[in-house]
Amino acid sequence: MDEAVADLRADRGSAVADDEHDPEGVTLSGEWARATALQDAARREIGEIDDALQRWEAGAYGVCGDCGRGIPVARLRARPFATRCIACAEKAGA
Ligand SMILES: [Zn+2]
Repeated sequence: MDEAVADLRADRGSAVADDEHDPEGVTLSGEWARATALQDAARREIGEIDDALQRWEAGAYGVCGDCGRGIPVARLRARPFATRCIACAEKAGA
């Protein structure tokens, strides 16, 4: 993803003026927004994985960050990076 964004960034520098002249194609701006959104999502996911690994190393993986009770295995299967039990997640509006 980083490479795609870097490519787009390079294209953008030289082709911004063309953006409005190609009504048939996806505009660079649209492509740019899509790529950066994907990159943001990927970064968030990597951050969640890092956090989960840190909790694992600290012996706190699968423990609710709010109430301190264990997060049910079924929930961890569905959401491996969950930081709250279902009750606390619902309270937090997540
Ligand atoms: Zn909880």
